[in-house]
Amino acid sequence: MRATGDNDGVTSADILSPRLPSPLEEVADDRFARQGVRLLLKRDDLIHPELIGNKWRKLVPNIEAAAGRPVLTFGGAYSNHLRATAAAGRLLGFPTVGVVRGEELAARPLNPSLARCTADGMRLHFVDRSTYRRKTEPEVLAALARAAGAEHAYVVPEGGSNAAAVRGCRALGEELRGRADLVAIACGTGGTLAGLAAGLGAGQRALGVPVLRGGFLAGEAERLQTEAFGGRRGDWSLDERFHFGGYARTAPGLDDFARDFEDRHGMAVERLYVAKLLYGLVELATEGAWERGTRVAAVITA
Ligand SMILES: *Cc1c(COP(=O)(O)O)cnc(C)c1O
Repeated sequence: MRATGDNDGVTSADILSPRLPSPLEEVADDRFARQGVRLLLKRDDLIHPELIGNKWRKLVPNIEAAAGRPVLTFGGAYSNHLRATAAAGRLLGFPTVGVVRGEELAARPLNPSLARCTADGMRLHFVDRSTYRRKTEPEVLAALARAAGAEHAYVVPEGGSNAAAVRGCRALGEELRGRADLVAIACGTGGTLAGLAAGLGAGQRALGVPVLRGGFLAGEAERLQTEAFGGRRGDWSLDERFHFGGYARTAPGLDDFARDFEDRHGMAVERLYVAKLLYGLVELATEGAWERGTRVAAVITA
């Protein structure tokens, strides 16, 4: 499949020149070492400089399915998914339309995240929250696409999670076969976890750490696995204790934790997802959740 319309067999994945498989690095951290546990970082943040982390794995199969049609998708004020879609549109030369939750966000100047989307050529269409909530109803979706001038667009759901995206994330698990006992990842929609768990080998487990509140994620990840693979796949579970109040919510303790992790390991820690994941893993290590010798891989998604 080609996103460029060329007939030379060049796929969007080739053009984007991803760094795959992403690096896997072991780090020395006394909070894990004390328990005899090894900590590895799966650096999905290094896959592509502009397609934030796991969004590369989710987007590429959808871009190929869109085959050059405009891609219409959805997101909130600071959506990494909207940013990644807009960047992919610019890099690969296909039109993008972003339906944004909240009419008030149309006020200029746009926030930096939405400004980046428009700079990348994404057309933004702002809608009120009650319409946004109903965006998966076929009539509402059709009206939104029409109003955004993108009736024939290829539609990617909020957060980029659909069957194609989940199948794309299976490669994350496959890259980790035989290299870790437990693979942990921060979850928004659960699509990346759903694919990751399906790609792991026998005896490996996946752990999802939701950054949103509400307890809906287990059902959602299972629904996505059923859509992508016909049923539940792999050995996965969730730990719902580390959302810190919900998406984009934070706490002084979390920020201190992230800064300390940055000092210890000389890397930036993204605050909306990755900080909560790492905080949860340190807490689990401290609780003695894992047997000595366990290799824990944390997926660094941004
Ligand atoms: C989108 C995102 C996730 C979560 O991915 P889902 O598939 O929606 O669960 C995790 N980390 C970062 C940095 C993200 O942008």
